[in-house]
Amino acid sequence: MEYSGNPNNHSPHVAILAGAGMGHLTPTLRLAASLLKRNCLVTLITAHPCVSDAESKLISLFLSAFPQARKEQFHIVPLDPPVEGCDPFWLQWEATRRSLQVLPSLLQSLSPPLSALVTDVTLLTPVLEFTATLKNLPKYILFISCARMFSLLASYHTFFSTTHHLPEDDYFSKAEFLETPFPGVGPFLKSSIPAALQEATNLFVSIFKEDGKKVSSFDGVFINTFDRLEPELVGNGAKLFDGRVMPPLITVRLSPCDFERGAGSSKLGWLDDQAPGSVVYVSFGSRIAIKKERIREIGEGLVRCGYPFLWVVKDKIVDKEDTALLEDVIGDELMEKVKSKGLVVKEWVDQGGILGHKAVGGFVNHSGWNSVTEAAWCGMRVLAWPADADQGINAEAVEKSGLGIWAKDWGCLAGPNSDKMVTGEEIGTKIQEMMGNDLLRLQAQQIRDEARNAFGDGGSCENAMKELIEKWKMTN
Ligand code: UDP
Ligand code: UDP
Repeated sequence: MEYSGNPNNHSPHVAILAGAGMGHLTPTLRLAASLLKRNCLVTLITAHPCVSDAESKLISLFLSAFPQARKEQFHIVPLDPPVEGCDPFWLQWEATRRSLQVLPSLLQSLSPPLSALVTDVTLLTPVLEFTATLKNLPKYILFISCARMFSLLASYHTFFSTTHHLPEDDYFSKAEFLETPFPGVGPFLKSSIPAALQEATNLFVSIFKEDGKKVSSFDGVFINTFDRLEPELVGNGAKLFDGRVMPPLITVRLSPCDFERGAGSSKLGWLDDQAPGSVVYVSFGSRIAIKKERIREIGEGLVRCGYPFLWVVKDKIVDKEDTALLEDVIGDELMEKVKSKGLVVKEWVDQGGILGHKAVGGFVNHSGWNSVTEAAWCGMRVLAWPADADQGINAEAVEKSGLGIWAKDWGCLAGPNSDKMVTGEEIGTKIQEMMGNDLLRLQAQQIRDEARNAFGDGGSCENAMKELIEKWKMTN
């Protein structure tokens, strides 16, 4: 079946298929908002039900802010038999992958016909499979991590191929780094690669290899990065590697939008009372559960560091289950100490608003890519303490670009390799190191200025986005 395309060359119609988790949904909705503001028609396709309350709330806020956006949802077919004890977001991806048979009829029912389909990276293989009959439909990936992580996805399967002569056994047991086949891209440290990709029998290994082989079947990859953050990769995406041409990387600015403001509190009153640049903001994203002992050492570190702090505590992966009282998580004694020195909360906060507040001078974070780019956009120094997943690779970008420092010798913040004890004293000293580092502050500000140039009117990223929309308009 030939897909007939959008006959209306004034407003391209783009369908966006969202993945699970706030780290995926947030950039998806930011991309949708950006396309709507550029007069595209947008249909948002989401799975029902969502895993977390935060996701449902954000979707509602987006739809209220953009009543012109269309919404389609499909029902998740639960895994049978059910899988116990696995990360609920992983399970949702797997269940979503198996629930996408509805896609061809859903996409064809949309009117006007689509100019393009954008899929979350976790769904790229089923999207290719289920849209195989829609021949002329341009397809794009929304990659929610950094370009270096994308290069790992695109090349990971080649590490085991005959061309690179790395037998699987050597990779899983001995290799300390992996040489990437992308020209000009430095090797990946094994210790930065997601833990799941280092276990031969992990399901993620086969998914990642399969997904990686297919990225070159897409017309482009939206990615929230820019030259100054990842100079070795941005602009290099179309280079040949392994005999294939990679799809172009379309760098987009996916910074916080106004509609997100209502999702969480911004603690503006408290921040307004603090001296400019004095506050340490501490938050480890939307889905990292930190062990109680570690939470308490972090608290001790904050009390010792000598700066006021805004600290977001989270001890469950899914927000619906995060019901324990703050006092019970951090203990009464520490609670008393932190109260007099900073603000500690256990709730969803408006991170965009906080990072942009003049009182905030440094960000202690797990280097989730959304958080890193939000910090870059605000010119905010980062102390990176990655847990797992792509965060080690993101932390490399934080360090290399000069946006922040990476507490490498602390090991992982959470997850399978997080056994190393890190004391409150060490944490306090490292925070002082970041907050007292003026060079870092200046570098972060430069990064913000360069981001604003790249994404501002006439900037390279802004021009590329305009060209793409013009191209879609011509699709018939
Ligand atoms: N976030 C927020 N408030 C919170 C926690 C997280 O607004 O209380 C947002 C944060 O700004 C970012 C996203 O949730 O946009 C988290 O994505 P990231 O890639 O940083 O980390 P992940 O949660 O995927 O590990
Ligand atoms: N990823 C991918 N395909 C998948 C799942 C994940 O390419 O099916 C990539 C993506 O870059 C993601 C990273 O692997 O950021 C790590 O995924 P994880 O869920 O562990 O972390 P998160 O998505 O919260 O960043």
